[in-house]
Amino acid sequence: MMHKKTIRDVDVKGKRVLVRVDFNVPLDKTTFAVKDDTRIKEALPTIKYLMEHGAKTILVSHLGRPKGKDQNLKMDNVAKKLEELLGKPVMKLDDTVGDAVKGAVAKMKEGDVCLLENVRFYPEEEKNDPEFSKKLAELADLYVNDAFGTAHRAHSSTAGVAQFLPAVAGFLIEKEVTVMGKALSNPEKPFIAVLGGAKVSDKIGVIENLLPKVNAILIGGAMAFTFLKAKGYTVGKSLVEDDKLGVATEIMKKAEEKGVKLHLPVDVVVADKPDDTATVVKTVKVGEIPADLVGVDIGPETAKIFSGVIVNAKTVIWNGPMGVFEAKKFREGTRAIAEALSKVKGTTIVGGGDSASAIQKLGFGDKVSHISTGGGASLEFLEGRELPGIAVLQNK
Ligand code: ADP
Ligand code: MG
Repeated sequence: MMHKKTIRDVDVKGKRVLVRVDFNVPLDKTTFAVKDDTRIKEALPTIKYLMEHGAKTILVSHLGRPKGKDQNLKMDNVAKKLEELLGKPVMKLDDTVGDAVKGAVAKMKEGDVCLLENVRFYPEEEKNDPEFSKKLAELADLYVNDAFGTAHRAHSSTAGVAQFLPAVAGFLIEKEVTVMGKALSNPEKPFIAVLGGAKVSDKIGVIENLLPKVNAILIGGAMAFTFLKAKGYTVGKSLVEDDKLGVATEIMKKAEEKGVKLHLPVDVVVADKPDDTATVVKTVKVGEIPADLVGVDIGPETAKIFSGVIVNAKTVIWNGPMGVFEAKKFREGTRAIAEALSKVKGTTIVGGGDSASAIQKLGFGDKVSHISTGGGASLEFLEGRELPGIAVLQNK
């Protein structure tokens, strides 16, 4: 259960409702058409609910990183895609705030939907400028945040506007907070964290928050080499953060004190280059990494051990690929972990942008309980931090 109010808890009929959605979708590089509509689909339950309950729905999002009013980053193609998915007309407005927008909104009827222009056309947005927040608020009677992917940013449309309007959560934020919140506060045990990815420094916060809660931590990815080096292994040319060796040692010590088993790879795949052009590729034990090669994946023995721990868990949080999964040659470890997750009889959560794309790419996307739609936002959530875009919403 989430302790924040949602659109179910307030009266929306006849109200002008400003909804911050995450329509920051990937675009085709030449036509600027929407290349992947996942994020638009994720917002549909909230939009449909508001339409069916007689709200006047005013959608707002950012798209890309415009420097000024970039014509290629206008929301027109997003509006078209949304119209297609909804099967209802969506009024695309040419501005985000101001009198023209207010006038258009005034003509809306119950059940209508409009989409404002890219909110980042205004530099005030990212500065969380109170004047700009106020202008956004003037368009509506109620504010709904449903953009989990930007909830870790305190911008005008994600947080600032809530100073001037009653603010509640949409269904996507409700789902993210409920699923991940339960795992963090009341997980079914055994509770396992699987962590990988590029850098220890990106994941220290997550490790420290999860350490007191989990039964075991499995560490793969480039991150593992910093831990291995801290234990005295030579790691060849593998990615290591030398300034984090102390932190790694500290984490291993804490895990031991708490009785949390911290698993590191026992074998790794090494190569002459960390991409598909590699000509030397082999599996070695962690004690035998050649000086001139780079660790690019966990080895099969490690994958087997990790998978064994995972399939017996009741709650698993996975963040960070086990290897350079972008390369065909080095995705076996990540694939094995994704497959193990798909066999868990319990709750399985995937957080982090690359991990989410890895599990989809590997074909196990529909076999886990939850893939977070927020990259950075899910990491901050797993760090136990309160996200500014959620903090501003009304408590139940
Ligand atoms: P997420 O986005 O899921 O939080 P990260 O951004 O932390 O994940 O890490 C993903 C990146 O880590 C990928 O680009 C992957 O290639 C890289 N990576 C994983 N293992 C290694 C490795 N052994 N060496 C270099 N890069 C690695
Ligand atoms: Mg990433």
